[in-house]
Amino acid sequence: MEPLQKERRLILGTDLDGTFLGGDRPQRQALYRWIAAHRDRVVLVFVTGRDRALIEALYGDGDWPDLPAPDYAIGDVGTTVTDWRTGQPVAAVQDWIAHRWGSGSDRVAVLLDGLPGLRRQPGSFQYRRSYFCEDAATGDRAIALAQAAGYGAILSDGGQFLDILPPGVSKGPTFLRLLETLGHGPADAIVAGDTLNDWSLLTCGVPAIAVGNREPALTQRLSQWSGQPPIYPSPQPGAAGILDGLRHWATARVPGPPAIVP
Ligand SMILES: [Mg+2]
Repeated sequence: MEPLQKERRLILGTDLDGTFLGGDRPQRQALYRWIAAHRDRVVLVFVTGRDRALIEALYGDGDWPDLPAPDYAIGDVGTTVTDWRTGQPVAAVQDWIAHRWGSGSDRVAVLLDGLPGLRRQPGSFQYRRSYFCEDAATGDRAIALAQAAGYGAILSDGGQFLDILPPGVSKGPTFLRLLETLGHGPADAIVAGDTLNDWSLLTCGVPAIAVGNREPALTQRLSQWSGQPPIYPSPQPGAAGILDGLRHWATARVPGPPAIVP
């Protein structure tokens, strides 16, 4: 195993709901305390469907004591990137997303707003358009229309929520752009998720952890995945799965992140 390099940092890119927020309270506490103890060597990046307001709401909520603040937040299913401390967008990545979206809000409105069975999600999202879906057939039809027009589309939570995204933009590609902007490569990072809307993150070429409480559709997708590096399917839920995955990747014989072993 390579010697510990003090200057190397671990970039942890993690989904929130069901992943970083998953597991029971002692399991979350163990992860959050481990991060606090290594805070100078861990760059914490939330990669979530939540927007900034919904992330901030977690800190006013007694349910999530000890929740560490991230260094960066990739929100809105990969369409916004914020330096958490300053609250400012990471311009190099955000500009790329804005350019890809262009006049997407207007174009997608024309395509999908009148479609029976679709209802706009409340909130004004700058670089995505999001809907509630009445049934799977509606979702499939909307995805086909959006994709034919060049947009990305992600259906999540059993087909209830539909996000229309800029072409080529989702959690994984945005995380890779952020890594590059920070001067890091895939070997410095680990990512974690629990649902199919994390798929682009889990398969972006970074050592990945699918936590134990993952949705069945993700487990099914894992069985068909033969890309590199492989995705580690942890048997542990949420936060415990992340700790278990960090241990797994610290000892795996593949190029991986620095050996800060939990
Ligand atoms: Mg999740």
